Amino acid sequence: MKPVSHASVSIVGAGIGGLACALALAKRGFTVRVFEQAPALGDVGAGIQISPNGLAVLRALDVAHDLTRCSAQARAVELCDFKRGKMVARLDLQAHAGDLTYLFAHRQDVIKVLFEGCKAAGVDFTFGEILKNTTETTLDFASGLSVTSDIIIGADGLHSIVRKALNGDVAPFFTGQVAYRAIVPNVIAQGNVARIHMGPNAHIVSYPLHQGQHLNLVMVREQSQWVKETWRNPADPQEVQSKFSNFGGDIAAALAQLTHVNEWGLFRHPVAQVWGTSGKVLVGDAAHPTLPFMAQGANLALEDAWVLAACLAQNSDFDRAIALYRSKRIERVSRIVQAATKNAWKYHLSSWPLRSLAHLGMRGLSRVAPHKMVSQFDWIYRFDVTRD
Ligand SMILES: Cc1cc2nc3c(=O)[nH]c(=O)nc-3n(C[C@H](O)[C@H](O)[C@H](O)COP(=O)(O)OP(=O)(O)OC[C@H]3O[C@@H](n4cnc5c(N)ncnc54)[C@H](O)[C@@H]3O)c2cc1C
Repeated sequence: MKPVSHASVSIVGAGIGGLACALALAKRGFTVRVFEQAPALGDVGAGIQISPNGLAVLRALDVAHDLTRCSAQARAVELCDFKRGKMVARLDLQAHAGDLTYLFAHRQDVIKVLFEGCKAAGVDFTFGEILKNTTETTLDFASGLSVTSDIIIGADGLHSIVRKALNGDVAPFFTGQVAYRAIVPNVIAQGNVARIHMGPNAHIVSYPLHQGQHLNLVMVREQSQWVKETWRNPADPQEVQSKFSNFGGDIAAALAQLTHVNEWGLFRHPVAQVWGTSGKVLVGDAAHPTLPFMAQGANLALEDAWVLAACLAQNSDFDRAIALYRSKRIERVSRIVQAATKNAWKYHLSSWPLRSLAHLGMRGLSRVAPHKMVSQFDWIYRFDVTRD
């Protein structure tokens, strides 16, 4: 094999992980091609939270400025009771983490700034190519196109074909939770705060998008009926409204605005055992799909991209580079995936006494030690891969 820095790289997937990888590698002098199944740049998706650890990577890639301009900066996270929307606890980011920037962004905007960066750095894109199979360092697409390169990066998300080639088929399991996602007009004039409305067996997260004109809603509910794990599955707005009709206060007015909703079955996937070998490697959701309850999927993909590019650029041997990449990432991503898995039940306590007790604890902590409410997440947000 050639020295890694002269190798040709093919990336499968133009999501946040694939684009960030392409840009980080192109900036380090690699020749990069990206293959994406969608016929054009992604226009699917809704709000996505870019936390300081992810923003550090976008800054290092020189694209943070454009994203910051079209996103809202988060001031606080408010935990509210579902019944009348009364606030239980507040994580005041401005007061206790004022040196950090948390963004409420639209996924499309994150994709757009990375894509523009890639184009300026000379990355080559091919859209409308669906990967069907990969053997050794060859990619076989549904169209009949076959591409061989020195390095293949699987940034092909949750249902990754490259992960399957490296790890075999490992079936995920349905968590019994379904997330409904929508963007509605911000008729309740919610400011730059994320609100988590906690109810029995359900919660709703709301935050502003597009300079506060819209609200991004993520409505999560426990249900036994299985739902597909995909971002393109429309649901009936009226049915969704009736599922969350016990939520009161401002959020009820926002729910009344639903016209387009997508539903997404939440599945648990194990973190991949094998991240790479013999010219193939995984990033982002392909390596470690996570439930959305820490809002870290995109941020972890950005971190992966930076670390992978650095490891490939600094090591002349591919397998050594990949071993280093995995060793730098595995502990952190596993801890965040676990934290996201544990977080769901905290917002969903169905028994009234238990919920009251939990809310009392949160209210107490936010009054007595407001700084602690925020600093408990320092290990996630104050971590900066670009300084390593
Ligand atoms: C369409 C879509 C909408 C999303 N919307 C949101 C959202 O609103 N909010 C949020 O928090 N998260 C959203 N996510 C998830 C979030 O972007 C990811 O969890 C996170 O950014 C990690 O990104 P990733 O690049 O690893 O994977 P992904 O973002 O899933 O990107 C994977 C890419 O690979 C492509 N791909 C997959 N299989 C193949 C194949 N066989 N051949 C060629 N290309 C392939 C996909 O089309 C996609 O572009 C969305 C993901 C997708 C795919």
